[in-house]
Amino acid sequence: MRIAIVGAGVAGSYLLNRIPSEHKVECFEMRPKEKWYTVCAWGTSAPYIADMIKKAGFNFSDYIMHRGKRMVVDTGGSQFDINLKGLVTYDKHKLVEDMLEGKEVHWGRQINASNGDLHDFDMVIDATGLQRALLPKVAHDVVIPSVEYQVKSKEFPWDDFYIKPYRGLTGYFWFFPLGDGVGHIGAGDYYGKYRGELEAFLKKYNCETVRKIGRPVRIIPPLYCQPFSSGKVVGVGESIGSVYPLLGEGIIPSMQCADAFVENINNLESYRSDVLQRFRIYAKVYRFVKAKIDGNFSLFKQLPNLLSIFLHMKKNERRYGLETKFFDILKVVRA
Ligand SMILES: Cc1cc2nc3c(=O)[nH]c(=O)nc-3n(C[C@H](O)[C@H](O)[C@H](O)COP(=O)(O)OP(=O)(O)OC[C@H]3O[C@@H](n4cnc5c(N)ncnc54)[C@H](O)[C@@H]3O)c2cc1C
Repeated sequence: MRIAIVGAGVAGSYLLNRIPSEHKVECFEMRPKEKWYTVCAWGTSAPYIADMIKKAGFNFSDYIMHRGKRMVVDTGGSQFDINLKGLVTYDKHKLVEDMLEGKEVHWGRQINASNGDLHDFDMVIDATGLQRALLPKVAHDVVIPSVEYQVKSKEFPWDDFYIKPYRGLTGYFWFFPLGDGVGHIGAGDYYGKYRGELEAFLKKYNCETVRKIGRPVRIIPPLYCQPFSSGKVVGVGESIGSVYPLLGEGIIPSMQCADAFVENINNLESYRSDVLQRFRIYAKVYRFVKAKIDGNFSLFKQLPNLLSIFLHMKKNERRYGLETKFFDILKVVRA
């Protein structure tokens, strides 16, 4: 087949290296190369992602910037530590750039459903993330506005991961160290509660801004992002909701979604079932978070969901890169 991948983010670049070579693949990215950037805090679980990156022919260790030992969770009134089991920050931009190297990438080409540029292709992948530029819009989309600064400072108050969840699980403030006095300081919140907070932090800790970036993150899961395909267009990555709703974490999920696509490239119905199966827990997590955001939350009613979330994360500590304790989740939920 002749396949067009629209979007040179994590899903698109990974797919470029994973689709079997019997197919002819090209990528279309709306930004010109010099203006293109991977907006993200660059946090992920090293042991888990390393195996996936290896399948694309790269060595993940070459990109690690900071290996976390603990994450401070600030619930307002008190703080506690989560032991980390592989959570790192890595140079995501460089890795994506390296994955695009030597591939046929058309920079500065914004593709949408009506501009009909891609009629010569047998299949078109919508890997446009939040934009979902080619598939029908999601009926009741839920996105979390986010802003982030990459900064330098000699006065950071933390030397490892730090997060401060906002009341009502509507989002959180983060500091992700990148090594050598550089870090990502950012926040995402359904109601945009962080306004002013980041700027106050930059001032207080004498931060020099390297870049300010931001975009909303989709937290509505694949179950509610259907259809995954329309005509010859197929969605992969955040365009079909592969983001863990509790954390706004989408790097590994977008790559898992790309793996599901590669495994089912000749059968889109089995791709659909595979995605729904792989991300089944995301729908539960989403309903849990949404009940909190909407103010309809009852701990008693949500206890079964809370237990499912805990068991899922406990069983997948290597996947999330952190040690999971039931009472830690409860502390965040009740904060
Ligand atoms: C501030 C912030 C911090 C985050 N931090 C983390 C984190 O630490 N860890 C983690 O796991 N996840 C994080 N995420 C989520 C994660 O970055 C995304 O879920 C993930 O990158 C999605 O990958 P994707 O390839 O599907 O989409 P994207 O990475 O968004 O890539 C989409 C690409 O498509 C291009 N595009 C869009 N529309 C068009 C069009 N019409 N034509 C052509 N090209 C187009 C875009 O320019 C972009 O290059 C963060 C998100 C944000 C916003």
